[in-house]
Formats: sequence, structure tokens, C-alpha cells
Amino acid sequence: MGIRENIRHLLSQLPDNVILLAATKSRTVDEIREAIDAGIRVIGENYVQEAAKKYEVLGKVVEWHLIGHLQRNKVKKAVRIFDVIETVDSEKIAAEINKRCSEINKIMPVMIEINSGKEPQKAGVYPEEALKLAEYIVSCKHLKLIGVMTMGPVVKNPEDIRPYFRLTREIFEKLKRELPECEIKYLSMGMTDTWKIAVEEGANIVRIGTGIFGPRKTKHNML
Ligand SMILES: *Cc1c(COP(=O)(O)O)cnc(C)c1O
Repeated sequence: MGIRENIRHLLSQLPDNVILLAATKSRTVDEIREAIDAGIRVIGENYVQEAAKKYEVLGKVVEWHLIGHLQRNKVKKAVRIFDVIETVDSEKIAAEINKRCSEINKIMPVMIEINSGKEPQKAGVYPEEALKLAEYIVSCKHLKLIGVMTMGPVVKNPEDIRPYFRLTREIFEKLKRELPECEIKYLSMGMTDTWKIAVEEGANIVRIGTGIFGPRKTKHNML
């Protein structure tokens, strides 16, 4: 099936309240345009450099989400491109985003990335640290906390990811409860093999790459 058919099929299965984010790392501008033509309104990029090249060509035609780990030295560029940063996982990176946004008078909607499998080598805050980071984000004038995202561990059987999605949902609900002054709305979880489970566990953003564009040939492929 082609990009258009894949998107149509996914949209027909997704509940209306769930946003289909196209994960576009390694995809060409032409492929992304095809996805936009087929109804994609939100794209997710992993690398700031790769996104910058595509952004020069595509511009603001869709909502741009950063879904990969953000390094401090890339923040200045990232805040100019992205409409949402889904992967805030430390006070240090939050502070840098806040600082760079204050320089351009922007309020950045951000999400906290949860390391729901507590894997030391992976990005994201541990579940028990999420509230403290959320409170810090709320104290930053140029940040607006809008949600929570997780990857979860790599599993053989998609069903095995359910506990990690459920845990992330619990954190999402807790942050909403503890910080009622924020409008925390988004729960971003689920990829090609796991999006159905994610939706069952409350996700309202699913991030799909392979299921839209087919297998990735290379990690980076830019334009
Ligand atoms: C690549 C990627 C996805 C999409 O993965 P697929 O298995 O290709 O659907 C989702 N989220 C993040 C953070 C990614 O890097």
C-alpha cells in the first residue's frame, strides 16, 4: 500500500479525538508532502538538523513536533522550528528552552518524556521524578506544559508494552490532578506496532512512521 492508503486506513480506525502524528525521520520532503495531502496535520522529527533542512523547504504547513532527544546546543535552533517539544526530560533542558524562547518572545508548548521502562541508557524522566519536573516547567514563563509522552521498552510481543503505557497514563492523570491550573491535554504514546494498545490505554497522540511510509532504509536521509 502507498502512503495515501496507509493514512486513510489509519484515520478510519482511529477515534476522532486521537491525533495521527507522522514520524518523518529519514523520509523525504516529497514523502512528507504526500502525507500532508492525505490528511496528516502533525509531523514528528527526531533530529534538529534534519528537521531544519526539511523546514526550509516545507515551512509551517503542518504542526512540527520534536519527538527525539534534545541536546542543549540545539535548543536555539529547535525553538524556531518546532511548535511542540515532546521530549523534555530534565530541568536543565527545560531551562534552556525557556531561555531561548524568552529571547524570541515565544511560549513553547512542551511535554514531559517519561522513561516508563526505567532503562538507564534511555531518555526520559523516571516516573517518580515527573511531578517535580512538571512543577519546574510550570515555573518557567516561556513554557506551557501540555502533556506527557513515552516510548516504552522494545518488546517482542506488542501486548507486553501495555503496563508501560498504563503507568504513563497514571502519571498523566496525576499531573492533571496536581496541576489543575495547567491545561495538560495530550498523552503521546504508541507507534506502528503498538498504537492500538496505546489508544486503549488513553493515548490521544499516536506517532507512526513505518505504518505510513513503509520500512526505513537509513537512519538519516534528509531530503
Ligand atoms: C521513529 C519513531 C516513531 C515511529 O516508529 P515506527 O515504528 O516507525 O512507527 C515514534 N516515536 C518516536 C520517538 C520515533 O523515534
